[in-house]
Amino acid sequence: MNHITINCPCCNDDKNNLDSSINYVNKKFFSEHREEIFSDRKMHHCNKCNFSYSTPFLSDEILDQFYLNDFSKRRMNSMLVQAKIKFKFSLVSLQRIFFVSAFLNKKESHTILDFGGGAGATTSQFKNLLPNSNVNIDDNEGYNDIWKLRGLEKKSLNSYKDGEIDLFFSSHTFEHINANEHNNLLSFIKKKISKDGIVYIEVPNDDFSKFKNKDKLNEGCHVSHFTTKSLEILISKYFDIIDVNSRGNERLFSEKGNGNVYENIQDTYNKNPLKKLLYKLGLLKVAQSIMQYYHIFLPKKKDEKKKLIETMFFKKNIIAAKGSFITVLARNKI
Ligand SMILES: [Zn+2]
Repeated sequence: MNHITINCPCCNDDKNNLDSSINYVNKKFFSEHREEIFSDRKMHHCNKCNFSYSTPFLSDEILDQFYLNDFSKRRMNSMLVQAKIKFKFSLVSLQRIFFVSAFLNKKESHTILDFGGGAGATTSQFKNLLPNSNVNIDDNEGYNDIWKLRGLEKKSLNSYKDGEIDLFFSSHTFEHINANEHNNLLSFIKKKISKDGIVYIEVPNDDFSKFKNKDKLNEGCHVSHFTTKSLEILISKYFDIIDVNSRGNERLFSEKGNGNVYENIQDTYNKNPLKKLLYKLGLLKVAQSIMQYYHIFLPKKKDEKKKLIETMFFKKNIIAAKGSFITVLARNKI
């Protein structure tokens, strides 16, 4: 395995100072199809800004194959069903959109790109709320059928003219990008953004400093791990920060010192004979796919919806920035 390291992409601390004491252990169960390509990795942690990344940096070919053919496979049918059923606003997406649109420059029509938007649930809500704007999605073509159902069109980031994009929106994508690509990508995004355009980036809150000299369970296809501090440092190299926050409930890591919340999921599999049997028969993922339908059609309790609004986005976790995800909003530096 090629474990070539680089300086911290956020604070640029020397690669020789990176902490490699986190023992990155493989999962017994990877949750996505073919996610095993992310096994046997090493974790590198920056002591200065608490950014972490894992190696080896898999090639674009390998990653493109994974995201096109495997990553969405388990959820593809349920995503198609969801796109077919009557349009429903997602409360969390709405909160993101309201927050972001308050900072858009004042004009009739905006050019908006949902980068790594997957099935396009948020993209289609942008289209509905801002009908005069040019809203597009950039992700792999595996989602084509769903985009068609939602009336969405792909436009890749590199096909935009320089200075064309008013809002670059990206939710839970940057953690899938190799650490050695963030700076190039951000300077490219900067080129494509209008003079007073904005960027919104949301990622999981992954402070792994507590796993130094301990076991840390493999994060699968997440290969870059941000903290509020490291994301702010990275983005502020290219854009003027408007707001950085950790949001939602505190991310639960196991207090036992090894692994994290996923370990508990793994334990459940071990303790549940039916799940164990399904796994052995190679049917666990099939069963999980069927369960997806159950989640779509199961009526949600009213209280659950309320809780979602309270905890998911507007609840800022000011104390020690411990919310389970991080949002950064920034404007192009002129
Ligand atoms: Zn750093």
